[in-house]
Amino acid sequence: MAIDFTLTTEQRRLQSSVREFARDVLAPLSDQVDQEPDPLRAFQLVKPAYSEACKQGIAFSMLPREYGGGGLSNVDFVIAAEEIQAVDPGFGTTVLVNGLGLMPVWYYGTEEQKKRFIGAATSDQSGEFIVGYAASEPPGTPGGTANFDAPAIGGAGMHVTATRDGDDYVINGRKYWPCNVGGWDNQGADLNLVVVRTDPNSGGTTGLSAIMVERGTPGVSYNSISTSAQRSAPNCEIVFDNARVPASNLIEGTRGNGDLVINRNFAWSGPVAGIGAVAVARSAYEDALRWAKTYTGGGPEPIINYQYPGYVLGDIATKIEAARYFCWKGAHYLDQHGYHGEMLGAMCKVHCTEMLFDCVYKCMQVVGVNSLDTKHRFHRYLREASLLPLYDAGNFGMQRRRVHGVMVDESFNPRAFMDDEAVDFTKGMEGIDTVPGPKTDAPAMAR
Ligand SMILES: Cc1cc2nc3c(=O)[nH]c(=O)nc-3n(C[C@H](O)[C@H](O)[C@H](O)COP(=O)(O)OP(=O)(O)OC[C@H]3O[C@@H](n4cnc5c(N)ncnc54)[C@H](O)[C@@H]3O)c2cc1C
Repeated sequence: MAIDFTLTTEQRRLQSSVREFARDVLAPLSDQVDQEPDPLRAFQLVKPAYSEACKQGIAFSMLPREYGGGGLSNVDFVIAAEEIQAVDPGFGTTVLVNGLGLMPVWYYGTEEQKKRFIGAATSDQSGEFIVGYAASEPPGTPGGTANFDAPAIGGAGMHVTATRDGDDYVINGRKYWPCNVGGWDNQGADLNLVVVRTDPNSGGTTGLSAIMVERGTPGVSYNSISTSAQRSAPNCEIVFDNARVPASNLIEGTRGNGDLVINRNFAWSGPVAGIGAVAVARSAYEDALRWAKTYTGGGPEPIINYQYPGYVLGDIATKIEAARYFCWKGAHYLDQHGYHGEMLGAMCKVHCTEMLFDCVYKCMQVVGVNSLDTKHRFHRYLREASLLPLYDAGNFGMQRRRVHGVMVDESFNPRAFMDDEAVDFTKGMEGIDTVPGPKTDAPAMAR
């Protein structure tokens, strides 16, 4: 019996223990965090929940047991992530980003680097250890993350440079948006995986690598960004001003392949972001259903008994179910194919996050004007729904581009996912649809 949606006993246990954590530890903090105007203070308010997540093994649950992690499969992780994100999607992002910072070390690091960096996170007893992942850069001309793989030298793309000087790399430039990177005090996360250009004469998919920057590195500063949603996930601008990092911190297998790290990372996180959308839609739907079963609007019976609320809520429930199984499939595919799922992860993220807004809006239509009362949570669901398609590599910026890049390749088998075949992702699939910056004559990559 190959296709079976039954959760194992361990998965049920995981689901119920994370559900309990979300209900008992996270939920009591969540509204206060959402309403706190200062973004750093908002993040600090969530620290007791983070410490508990460390104690319960949630914070590094996605990392392999071999290096002290929780050893969850991708399917397990997605099951757990739904429970957290149904209560607080930003907290889910904070945990997710621990993985975005350390999974590439597991994929591409030397044995020594895996023990040093993953081991530091998983053996820490403080309940505060946090890891950032910095790929995104400020928008502007030239610059921006959207075009990070544009075939341009000195044009669009990544502008943070790491220049070799003796036994060190000297890092200069700015990143914008990365999560977790400032840590609990804007003095830096314990570890930050930073995508840099090690060859300033290169462009597009060449000359990018990932290097680990440790807390306390001189020449790095952090400024909080105040976001309209996911306020428990701390976004920052990072400024590197001649920051010196040991050359041994460059994750060996990423040398010249930072572009592939970005694509693999944002595909790994696809089903996790997707289940975040399922989770928010689930919460909005459950609130609207509860309302429809109790509110009569002055009529003879609760509005659930009428066609419009009944049919609309039925449609919403259908979308949620379908999206959840897509996330399970996406996660299962990553498990089956060595954590590669560059195309399917992107498809899953795009599809699920883009069904969310419609679900929340329809829930609000069912509830009616009372959904606008801030004592209900629909205003928050709406804000969360607007964020999910834009973060974790934007659906229009990076996720659709990856799908397009694979699809256009000669080797692409349109039945690959149905047949559970591996789909290789290569540099040749990158850069499609990009617009090079103004400093170059290189044409946009066209096929
Ligand atoms: C809560 C949160 C957490 C985040 N965490 C992290 C993190 O941990 N690490 C990190 O590095 N970043 C993080 N980010 C940033 C996130 O990944 C962004 O989605 C990403 O940096 C922006 O890339 P984008 O592809 O969406 O491009 P955008 O800059 O949003 O693109 C803008 C628009 O430009 C156009 N465009 C995009 N690509 C192209 C192209 N190739 N050619 C022509 N036009 C194009 C499209 O119309 C697109 O909609 C986070 C953001 C949020 C909100």
